[in-house]
Amino acid sequence: MAKDRPYESVGDIDGWSGPTKADIRSQKQHDQIAQAAQATADRLLASGYRPSYAALVHTEALLRRLEEYPPPELMHWRLRLFCGHMVDLAAHPGHKTIQAAFTSARDCPECGAVSQVIVAALPLGIRANPRAKATRPIPTPRVKSEVEKLREENARLREDLARLRVELPG
Ligand SMILES: [Zn+2]
Repeated sequence: MAKDRPYESVGDIDGWSGPTKADIRSQKQHDQIAQAAQATADRLLASGYRPSYAALVHTEALLRRLEEYPPPELMHWRLRLFCGHMVDLAAHPGHKTIQAAFTSARDCPECGAVSQVIVAALPLGIRANPRAKATRPIPTPRVKSEVEKLREENARLREDLARLRVELPG
């Protein structure tokens, strides 16, 4: 992920005057995909399919990590939904595109319309996340790799020591 890539801006959020032909097409396409996905899920569940224990554990761990380590900052966006309403939402600052931050649609909190495609979007800026706990730093991959390095070094030294013991006259 390119860190310096600018945040995506879509359409003219204030000058919007109703859905264009392209908006109508993308909402229709989105509805068809959602219906097909629902039908597939229904069919799988009806056939007795259950997610594996490992998949459930993995998902639970991901959710718990997100709960324990909320991102310290959030990117705030203003979105115009297909129904015409505007909503301000926040997302992880690593997501630079609408698709990454919100997939392609949201339910509208104003009129209750479900799964409305985003027809315009304006990145507002990054703000501190009030839910983040400043006292608990996220263990970064760099710290982990240093621990790994120390473990490896420790193992190597133990081997050397064992070899020296063998070589020394008893
Ligand atoms: Zn709405």
